[in-house]
Amino acid sequence: MLDTTERTMDRADWLDEAAIRATLAAVARPDPARVRAILARAVELVGLPAEDVAVLSMVTDPDLVEEIFAAARRVKEEIYGPRIVLFAPLYFSNICTNECVYCAFRRSNHELERKALSLDEIRAETAALIDQGHKRLLLIGGEAFPKGGFQYLIDAIEAIYSVKRGRGEIRRINVNVAPLSTEEFRRLKAAHIGTYQLFQETYDRKVYAEMHVDGRKADFDWRATAIDRAMEAGIDDVGLGVLYGLADWRFDTLALMQHIAHLEDRFGVGCHTISVPRMEPALGSDVAMHPPQEVCDDDFKKIVAILRLAVPYTGLIMSTRETPEMRKTTLELGVSQISGGSRTNPGGYATPEAEDAAQFERGDHRSLDEVVRDVAACGHIPSFCTACYRMGRTGADFMDLAKPGLIREMCGPNAISSFEEYLLDYGSDTAKEAGATAISGELAAMEPKIRHYSEVMMRKVRQGKRDVFR
Ligand code: SF4
Repeated sequence: MLDTTERTMDRADWLDEAAIRATLAAVARPDPARVRAILARAVELVGLPAEDVAVLSMVTDPDLVEEIFAAARRVKEEIYGPRIVLFAPLYFSNICTNECVYCAFRRSNHELERKALSLDEIRAETAALIDQGHKRLLLIGGEAFPKGGFQYLIDAIEAIYSVKRGRGEIRRINVNVAPLSTEEFRRLKAAHIGTYQLFQETYDRKVYAEMHVDGRKADFDWRATAIDRAMEAGIDDVGLGVLYGLADWRFDTLALMQHIAHLEDRFGVGCHTISVPRMEPALGSDVAMHPPQEVCDDDFKKIVAILRLAVPYTGLIMSTRETPEMRKTTLELGVSQISGGSRTNPGGYATPEAEDAAQFERGDHRSLDEVVRDVAACGHIPSFCTACYRMGRTGADFMDLAKPGLIREMCGPNAISSFEEYLLDYGSDTAKEAGATAISGELAAMEPKIRHYSEVMMRKVRQGKRDVFR
């Protein structure tokens, strides 16, 4: 647990690249019996140590890979049931002081039209997202705060929470912005954010230096220690991520495990979410067009499945970079949150025609309603629930609740009531039809006590109450 007298760390000493490479070399040809023993442990929902993650990552035999997938599906179903959390990114700016060679927002990219939203424009974006039915946003932008500096971020959060549209509102704002100082993280926490996310992109220091050639982000350790500062400041829901395609995916996945282990050692809790973006073409970037270590679809599915087994209680987030087909497959393998109806350019919701200022090409162009309909048609329950952080169920408290299986008991009914709210207020006829079938299927599968809670909550929503949660 955190010793508050401890000096803020300025170097990510927990990252041991040599140990990762040695672990991977030692398991180059995994024995099927060992793989099966690992999978037998994983389905007990106990997570996996780094060595086991390394073994699974080396499996190439198609039958064994299928066994990994089957175990991941089982863990996903056991812990999360059919619930899928939906959110949308809100880009406040595409201005950036960094030079990440794979990103359209990088400072030297003159092909990109630059834009930073005013607070009024942020309110307009928020209104457009609320009108789609969203309740949960990810506030994100290039790594340079527009006029007003850090205070702009606080004002933007306040602006988003202030927008009300009929019975709609944003109830949770997650934030993905440049690494901050501990004091700035304190102010961010006081602004009532949900999760603070920061992706290291790659943990391979050499590749990191080649990919991040200038700006504050070129400082690997400033970024790799940011989550420590966030947690020192009291933000206990944090999200990690790797940009797959930059370096060897096996290396980066094991490094991610080291990062999580460090957080668990130091703060008593790891990360709340892991994001698995895979590199996509971006305007004006050859690197993004030809990723240095491209991850094929089969390996990408393996990454999701292995993470599901390794950290079973950590949410896995799939961005809009992937195609509907890949998103559908990975939902079954372990993904628990997806974006819907996303735009990755500032102002893209209020003025959807202007997409030339986007960070990367989207693989999924469906509207939120289409995503909801398709997800529900596969038997999932799209969830708009934002209860946990408002009930103080964050960090270690959330994990304590999650571990005995209460995700299903709490989040299951909350998912259904928030989904019912969406369907009544925003759903198209086809989404309503798919949603009603998914809900009745899930109710029938629930234990009687949980079904009872769900039905009572749904009734309240139908009677006109909103934001009904446990
Ligand atoms: S990846 Fe982030 S920090 Fe790097 S150029 Fe793009 S927006 Fe800026």
